[in-house]
Amino acid sequence: MTVGLITGAGAGIGRAIALRLAAHGYDLALVDIDADAAAETADQVRAAGLRALPIGADVSRAVEVEGAVARAENELGPVEAFVANAGIEGVVGPIWDYSDDVFEKVWSVNTRGVFLGIKYVSQRMITRGGGAMVVMASTSAIRGREANAGYVSSKHAALGLARVAALDLAPHNIRVNAVLPGPIETRMIRSLFAQHEQRGRTSTPKSARKLGQPEDVAGVVAFLLSDEARHVNGASWVIDGGNTID
Ligand code: NAD
Repeated sequence: MTVGLITGAGAGIGRAIALRLAAHGYDLALVDIDADAAAETADQVRAAGLRALPIGADVSRAVEVEGAVARAENELGPVEAFVANAGIEGVVGPIWDYSDDVFEKVWSVNTRGVFLGIKYVSQRMITRGGGAMVVMASTSAIRGREANAGYVSSKHAALGLARVAALDLAPHNIRVNAVLPGPIETRMIRSLFAQHEQRGRTSTPKSARKLGQPEDVAGVVAFLLSDEARHVNGASWVIDGGNTID
């Protein structure tokens, strides 16, 4: 059995990835700051006949990430697949009015959290000489968006981390790719749309015309983690129904 570790696995895209990987036969460590949500995903993975370990941990805290990876390996076995998915959207507002605290918080989860996950998982993968990782970036990693300095800049940085990791880890037979979803129907996008609406934007943004489902992202992540993608490394895979090129 292959063992996978997914962060932010308690809801939305992370939960969809968990269920898709379970369908491919992965046993899974499911990390989320919301331990109850992780436990719910674990129940659904077990219902599919696979082993699941829910772990309540904050990806922005090194000690918790290191501990989560150790627990996953002790209880399930060597982690061969890692998905750095946990992320937060922050508070929408123009850059001159964007809170320093929110900026720090968003970066601590979306960027530092990705760095810590890759760091502690790769240390163990290196000793075994292989593995695969996917970083959850966003189309906000390759273009500007109004009124969200923290989120957009943190996703640009997450993509940069994925590229550095792909180069650093390639000699160790570890592939690292990034996926860049456009708007996907989850709690996060509902929060962002509501915040923009509150600020007075009435027209639907172009990027929101084609909403994806969490499963649309999960299928690409499963492919990138699989041997079918063995020659895909350092890639930035856009999943947005064509919005970004329009
Ligand atoms: P969501 O809010 O539905 O789920 C995020 C999950 O991450 C939640 O279960 C939450 O508890 C968990 N989480 C938050 N902070 C955490 C922390 N510090 N440590 C551990 N877990 C934490 O959001 P989603 O839409 O499923 O987003 C998942 C990822 O996909 C994020 O990185 C997000 O930026 C990215 N993304 C989402 C969209 C979209 O439109 N929904 C588009 C592009 C990228």
